[in-house]
Amino acid sequence: MTVSLPSDGVPRTLDRWLTGPRVAGLPARGAAQKPPLLSFEFFPPRTEALEQQLWHSIRRLEPLRPRFVSVTYGAGGSTQGRTHTTVARIARETALVPAAHLTCIGATRDEVDEVARGYWEAGIRHIVALRGDPPPGAVYEPHPGGYPFAADLVAGLHRVADFEISVAAYPETHPSAFNAEADLDNLKRKLDAGATRAITQYFFDTSVYLRFLDRCLAAGITAPIVPGIMPVTNFVQLVKFSAACGASVPAWLGHLFDGTENDPETRRMIAAAVAAEQVRLLQANGVDEFHFYTLNRPDLTYAIAHILGVRAVTPQE
Ligand SMILES: Cc1cc2nc3c(=O)[nH]c(=O)nc-3n(C[C@H](O)[C@H](O)[C@H](O)COP(=O)(O)OP(=O)(O)OC[C@H]3O[C@@H](n4cnc5c(N)ncnc54)[C@H](O)[C@@H]3O)c2cc1C
Repeated sequence: MTVSLPSDGVPRTLDRWLTGPRVAGLPARGAAQKPPLLSFEFFPPRTEALEQQLWHSIRRLEPLRPRFVSVTYGAGGSTQGRTHTTVARIARETALVPAAHLTCIGATRDEVDEVARGYWEAGIRHIVALRGDPPPGAVYEPHPGGYPFAADLVAGLHRVADFEISVAAYPETHPSAFNAEADLDNLKRKLDAGATRAITQYFFDTSVYLRFLDRCLAAGITAPIVPGIMPVTNFVQLVKFSAACGASVPAWLGHLFDGTENDPETRRMIAAAVAAEQVRLLQANGVDEFHFYTLNRPDLTYAIAHILGVRAVTPQE
C-alpha cells in the first residue's frame, strides 16, 4: 500500500504500522527495536476476595510500566462507585496512570457529566468512552436525555474537561451496526469528536485485524487502533461471552482446548502459546501497542509482555 506522508513529514501511527518492516525477529536485549507500549484492563471487584485478586494483579503488572491501566464500568453503570474507588486508589497508591471506562447507559447527560467531573477532581485524566450494552435480550434504546452513542459521549466529555479519550473499535464489525462501512464511519466520528486512540474488541484471526487496519487507513483514520488481546483463561466462558459481543471463535481454537476441561495447567500453557503467537505475528507486522484484557489474572499477561520484550523496572532503575 502506498501512503503519502502528512505535511509535517512524520508518519502517523497507522502509516508506520502498515508500511514498516513486515517481519521482525524476536526482540533482543539492547536491540534497536523498542519494546511495545502496553495497557492493561481490569474490572472492579465485587467481593473482598476479588479485591485481593485485583490488587495482586495490579502489583504484579505494575513493574512492566504500562502506558495506562483501565478499569471497566459494569452494565448499566452498576459498578459506578467501585470503578471510581478503584481508579482513585490506583491514582493514589501506585505509579500507574489509570483510565476510567464510562458508558452512556441508564443516565442523563447531566448525570454522566457529574461522574466525569468526579473523575477529573480525583485526578483521573483518561476516560475510555463507550455506549455500553442493554441487559441481555433487550434492544438498545438511548436513555431519554442521555448521550445516545459513544461519539456523543466523547464530545460531551470534552465539554466537561480536557480528558484524554479512548474509544472502542470492532475489527469484525459491531453486532448491531447497520453494516461494516457504517461501523467504520462511526469509529471515525468518535475519533473526529476528540478521541485519540481506539482499542479493539478482542479477535483471534489476526488477518481480520490487519485487514481492518487497512480499511481504517483507507478511510482516513491515522490514530492508533490498538489491538485488544484476550488471553484465554476459560474457553467455555469465552465462547458464551463471544457470542454476545460478536467476536468469532475460530474452530482451531476450540480444537486446541478440546479435551483440557479437567486440566487447567495444560489449558494455561495452550493459552500462553496462542496469545504469544498472536502478539508476535502482530509485532512482526509492525504493531507496537497492545491492550490486554487481564480479567484480573496477571500471569498470562506478564508472560506475554515478557515475550514481547517488555521487562519489569524496579523503582531504583
Ligand atoms: C475496549 C472495550 C472496552 C469496553 N468496556 C466496557 C465497559 O467498561 N463497560 C461496558 O458496559 N461495556 C464495555 N464495552 C462494550 C461496549 O459497551 C459495547 O460493545 C457496546 O455495544 C458498544 O459500545 P461502543 O462504545 O462501541 O458504541 P458506539 O460507538 O456508540 O456504537 C454502538 C453501535 O451503534 C452504532 N451507531 C453509532 N452511532 C449511531 C447512530 N448515530 N445511529 C445508528 N447507529 C449508530 C455503531 O455502528 C455500533 O453498531 C467495551 C468494549 C470494548 C471494545
